[in-house]
Amino acid sequence: MSKADYYEVLGVSRDANDQELKSAYRKMAREHHPDLNPGDHAAEERFKQASEAYQVLSDADKRAAYDRYGHAGVSGSGQGFGGPFAGGVDIGDLFGDLFGEMFSVGGGGQRRATRQQRGDDLRFDLAIDFEAAIFGVETEVKIRRQEPCATCNASGSASRRGPTTCGQCHGRGQVRYQQGFFAVARACPACGGAGQVISDPCSTCRGETRVTKELKLNVKVPPGVETGTRIRYAGEGDAGRAGAPKGDLYVVLSIRSHEFFQRDGHNLRCVLPISFPQAALGAEIEIPAIGGNVTLKIPEGTPSGKELRVRGKGVPFLNEKGAGDLIVKVMVEIPKKLNRAQRELVNQLAESLAVENKPASASFLEKMKDLFN
Ligand SMILES: [Zn+2]
Ligand SMILES: [Zn+2]
Repeated sequence: MSKADYYEVLGVSRDANDQELKSAYRKMAREHHPDLNPGDHAAEERFKQASEAYQVLSDADKRAAYDRYGHAGVSGSGQGFGGPFAGGVDIGDLFGDLFGEMFSVGGGGQRRATRQQRGDDLRFDLAIDFEAAIFGVETEVKIRRQEPCATCNASGSASRRGPTTCGQCHGRGQVRYQQGFFAVARACPACGGAGQVISDPCSTCRGETRVTKELKLNVKVPPGVETGTRIRYAGEGDAGRAGAPKGDLYVVLSIRSHEFFQRDGHNLRCVLPISFPQAALGAEIEIPAIGGNVTLKIPEGTPSGKELRVRGKGVPFLNEKGAGDLIVKVMVEIPKKLNRAQRELVNQLAESLAVENKPASASFLEKMKDLFN
């Protein structure tokens, strides 16, 4: 598969300057970022491509190599784009405060440290039935997460006053003591180095400011999802400590298999056994499909293994109208045991079949002739 041109991916001219590249990438990222398009694989793919393109073109050396040799010149840097956040581009830097917390998964460590620490993101693995993935489903999941303690209003202290300055280190978080010639500093044992203590811990959360709760959450799975599709619920993760913002919840889907159909992207595949007469004479067979049965036309002279396509009877597209196809592979069944009369009929058939009526045999015999003459 050939890779798309990096300039085309970003929609810029070949002499675009850094500022143009940056704003083109910014625009792409805003449109296609996976967090803004949960479950949309096409968007995720475009975002990954744009990130890769930007990473190469924003680096003068790599860009020069790319201009000269194309993808081969930068193939080393094409590796390791494992996730949407990979690629060495600091999303937080590009977006500034506009999207703020939105991009703190797997990145933005500095940003996080300077703020109150946001609660953790949670992952919930949800297995759904084959049909549910196609039609969409609403279901309830049970999650355990950290919730702000209601007793102390997430202050951690019974009086709701919150932490106070540690009396032992006076807020410094360290204590110094003399060891021989040296003055040694170590973390204050009273506050563990935090500089603050809760003198009257809340009896519910023991000063933790949060409690673990189990709760039910309604999850709405759109039609057309695949195994690995991720649905993000902003602010449904763990609460942060002391009233800090909540993390996000990611519901990661896996699709159970079906006894008749297999998924192939948005196409559905199945194998249909047919009889020799049906294959030879043609037939119309009613088969189950998405949204009701469909009539499959088997043309006269259909060979075993032939794939027949029913348009629009596959899996609906996730974010647009339409659906993939249903691809039916027909397998001609040969009867295991024939009675005398049937055997006679087949013999008559064999004798009456001219070799031109057996295309594969005809060409085979033709080649064999050449081989020995
Ligand atoms: Zn509490
Ligand atoms: Zn202390």
